[in-house]
Amino acid sequence: MEKERVFLSRPHMGGNEQKYIEDAFEKNWIAPLGENVTEFENDIKRYTGVGEALAVSSGTAAIHLALIESNVGQDDIVFCSSLTFCATSNPILYQGAQPVFIDSELDTWNMSPEALKKAFEKYEQLGQKPKAVIVVNLYGQSAQLNEIREICNQYDVVLIEDAAESLGSEYNGKKSGSFGDYGIYSFNGNKIITTSGGGMLVTNDKVSRDHALFLSTQARDKAIHYEHSELGYNYRLSNISAGIGRGQMEVLDNRVSIRRSIFEKYQQSLGNINGFEFQPEITNSKSNRWLTALTIDPEKAGFSSKDVIEALEKENIEARPVWKPMHLQPLYSNYDFIKLNSDNAKALFENGICLPSSSDMQAEQQDRVIQIIKDLNSDK
Ligand SMILES: *Cc1c(COP(=O)(O)O)cnc(C)c1O
Repeated sequence: MEKERVFLSRPHMGGNEQKYIEDAFEKNWIAPLGENVTEFENDIKRYTGVGEALAVSSGTAAIHLALIESNVGQDDIVFCSSLTFCATSNPILYQGAQPVFIDSELDTWNMSPEALKKAFEKYEQLGQKPKAVIVVNLYGQSAQLNEIREICNQYDVVLIEDAAESLGSEYNGKKSGSFGDYGIYSFNGNKIITTSGGGMLVTNDKVSRDHALFLSTQARDKAIHYEHSELGYNYRLSNISAGIGRGQMEVLDNRVSIRRSIFEKYQQSLGNINGFEFQPEITNSKSNRWLTALTIDPEKAGFSSKDVIEALEKENIEARPVWKPMHLQPLYSNYDFIKLNSDNAKALFENGICLPSSSDMQAEQQDRVIQIIKDLNSDK
């Protein structure tokens, strides 16, 4: 009999989600309006320490709204991490703007502050300046946000922090997502907590938050009839989904500690295989370890990350390569990419792998994953 599939990252309910959903049913607030939405926003504000929050239908929608609020429009330039999921950069194209992709550093796998500086200098010489910078905290690990914030301040450019994967992580003792002018979270089904689909925009700018709320509800001007003077979107989160989010917020810290111990077990069991390098956690940061990610140097290990993915798939276990960088995507082939000497994002993609990291993964399931990889190591 085939073993139950082990997923990379699957939803893991805490128990109280249904209580909040039932509450919405009782009050008949089955709409993008109601107590769950407001309370879910309050939960996020309390948790992250950011002043304002707006619950929306996806992380992508939150990034889109952050770009609009940053006045990014036709032909504007936006600097953006290259090693990420397409949801980070696609909204730049929605706005008719031009992404310029920035390479990763190997210390965090995230945007290299040096490469970012180089990009600012290059575009300054061309007489151009980006309207915004989007920095991603990959797999839960924060970028070097102090350095990146400083560079953005120096050039007076808006910083958007894509914390879709890093809710619950910390940097310098502060919560991930709270470092930019805007921060965004995702509650897609595979994230550390989920609302089955959803996102959140956070900012300390109340005027901007209220305008984003206006845009997310079809930009209805004040009138009895439907009057519109701005282009709006249907981006608000439903009260049902927000109910799931409230239940999930109660267990977020627990999920972080489970995912961190999953990472530690992988690292302890596999860390001494030749050519294995786990994603680092820089000293002033704490990663939520959303996914355990590592690179495998096939020359040293004698097998590749692709071999591991195939061996696991044979046993009905899901593992994935690291994100394919945006500058290598056909969709983005016409846009600029700034790196220092070598293409780190490409190297991380070529050798990188994400191992199953669900917070409800059984110890026995993780043992199987580890054994399959150890067997590859001894078989070679
Ligand atoms: C998941 C994710 C998003 C947003 O995803 P949605 O599915 O739209 O909620 C954005 N950026 C990154 C890096 C992500 O992993």
